[in-house]
Amino acid sequence: MRKDVRILLVGEPKVGKTSLIMSLVSEEFPDEVPLRAEEITIPADVTPERVPTHIVDYSEAEQSDEQLYQEISKANVICIVYSVNNKKSIEKVTSHWIPLINDRTDKDSRVPLILVGNKSDLVEHSSMETILPIMNQYSEIETCVECSAKNLKNISELFYYAQKAVLHPTGPLYSPEEKEMKPSCIKALTRIFKISDLDNDGILNDNELNFFQRTCFNIPLAPQALEDVKNVVRKNMSDGVKDNGLTLKGFLFLHTLFIQRGRHETTWTVLRRFGYDDDLELTQEYLFPLLKIPPDCTTELNHNAYLFLQSVFDKHDKDRDCALSPDELKDLFKVFPYMPWGPDVNNTVCTSEQGWITYQGYLSQWTLTTYLDVQRCLEYLGYLGYSIIQEQESQAAAITITRNKRIDLQKKQTQRSVFRCNVLGARGSGKSGFLQAFLGRNLARQKRIREDHKSYYAISTTYVYGQEKYLLLHEVLPDVEFLSEADLACDVVCLVYDISNPHSFEYCAKVYKKHFLDSKTPCVIISAKSDLHEARQYYSLSPLDFCRKHKLHPPQLFTCNTAEAPSKDIYTKLTTMAMYPHAKLRCMCSCNRCTFCICHNLLNSELVRSVKAKFYSAVLNRHMTQADLKNSTFWLRASVGATVFAVLGFAMYKALLKQR
Ligand code: GDP
Ligand code: MG
Repeated sequence: MRKDVRILLVGEPKVGKTSLIMSLVSEEFPDEVPLRAEEITIPADVTPERVPTHIVDYSEAEQSDEQLYQEISKANVICIVYSVNNKKSIEKVTSHWIPLINDRTDKDSRVPLILVGNKSDLVEHSSMETILPIMNQYSEIETCVECSAKNLKNISELFYYAQKAVLHPTGPLYSPEEKEMKPSCIKALTRIFKISDLDNDGILNDNELNFFQRTCFNIPLAPQALEDVKNVVRKNMSDGVKDNGLTLKGFLFLHTLFIQRGRHETTWTVLRRFGYDDDLELTQEYLFPLLKIPPDCTTELNHNAYLFLQSVFDKHDKDRDCALSPDELKDLFKVFPYMPWGPDVNNTVCTSEQGWITYQGYLSQWTLTTYLDVQRCLEYLGYLGYSIIQEQESQAAAITITRNKRIDLQKKQTQRSVFRCNVLGARGSGKSGFLQAFLGRNLARQKRIREDHKSYYAISTTYVYGQEKYLLLHEVLPDVEFLSEADLACDVVCLVYDISNPHSFEYCAKVYKKHFLDSKTPCVIISAKSDLHEARQYYSLSPLDFCRKHKLHPPQLFTCNTAEAPSKDIYTKLTTMAMYPHAKLRCMCSCNRCTFCICHNLLNSELVRSVKAKFYSAVLNRHMTQADLKNSTFWLRASVGATVFAVLGFAMYKALLKQR
């Protein structure tokens, strides 16, 4: 809404312009007035719309034409004053004043006009009969009013109408010629209806109407008022009320009625509450609330935001199959000005058998957008009406800014729930397959992906010590020379080579030595296509020796050429490493040497499903509950615990080997 309002009064001499201003200010009729009143400013708190208002007088005797034109171009609204007992002053409205003003303003941004018939105390009859045809002829005339400076009739009303014409203009809402709402207004109100229709049944029931009323006007509707509103609609149209609720048609009808009865402010209040500006566009402040992200911090959605997104999903998953069909997705994005998700999204997150985005996949995509481009996330949440429905200050309330990663590293603990893993490797080494396998797709399924629908991201959830975490995989294009900071910055790195291609490991070794030798980011070598015959790598060290030399975990065998969905173990390992980059002991590192691994393997092995398993599971459980405590001394305690059963573990391991 505007910061202030400038009202200019024009008209023939002696019609009472100066007297009107003086009467407003002093609340009594002045017998003697100067030719022209000084410009006055009415402070915000005494005006009905709480906006500072400047009132400017005009006098032909005191001002040049040039000065008049200047004032016209500065004004937000112009009152053309005539005297009801002076025919000539009425004629001049159309023969002189309206053309003069229109010549000086743009056709697209016509300043609103108000016709003011002064000295109503002097006549018995009204001038309305003469005025109404003029009003119909010029759409820029907002309203007309008859008043009297002498007996103070309609004086405050006149200035209130003028203020309203600026603050709640009719122009963008309504076309007086067609006598109906303008398309852009219908579009905005339709979006508002969709957002307020919380269960998406096409009807605003009493609960939804009350919520709408409360968010827009801060007061609930009395039950009787609710009935009255519905009755007005019922009387005027057959399908405006259905199942005792308001349909979109009824909702639009109500607003047309408000506007036609001069209550534009009601419609404007609704539009502004939902973020619209005077041109019926969503404002930048609404879509992009200020959010400062310090360096080394990441952005995530908080619990409240996930709950909101969940409710949006539920409201559109009409057949309750926990996936959004193309139609359901289209319906969900109807409140957006454009379709935000392209076909690549289906290859970034988990989908159903039909290739539709699942509930899980939907939340993953939101998590990805929040992590990679938080401004876009704010914008999207704005389209969904997040701050309105969740009654928050702005969309910024949906975002958690994580602690600086350096502090996480210092404290050896993290509260983050999204971790980024960059996947590097030579061309054709199997990076995309590695990303797609995370979404549960085997090689056969991957072959169905169209080249132009390909995604360089994959995101899904994994469980680390019982906690759900997001792992975001990013495929980095293979070009050793041009790896940027952004290509390298992440929580864990995968270096992928193709075991069947003797030239593919060299790339991993080079990238590792060039970028990760001294880096604190944990690295994992992935031996992809492990279903194929292993070739000897043309490199001075074998991958295993390379890992030993650089104290890396041994290369992790991986294949997505499986009958079922590929195994998810490796992704859990990666997430664990991303969460605990310091930890030397990782029960899921599968190095097969550390105590946790041995214990873990033992537990899973057929051989010990008998007596001893109980003992091991007890030990492992204790270790797990310690992890679950999320307490800062976890690693310390876990490793103390580990030494106790490390001895036992080795004894057991040896015993098993002997048995074999
Ligand atoms: P301006 O030239 O348009 O600024 O007109 P003025 O305010 O100077 O008023 C011209 C004359 O009309 C003065 O003598 C006022 O007293 C008188 N006048 C102004 N308003 C009214 C009114 O509402 N009723 C009556 N009866 N006289 C008015
Ligand atoms: Mg005057």
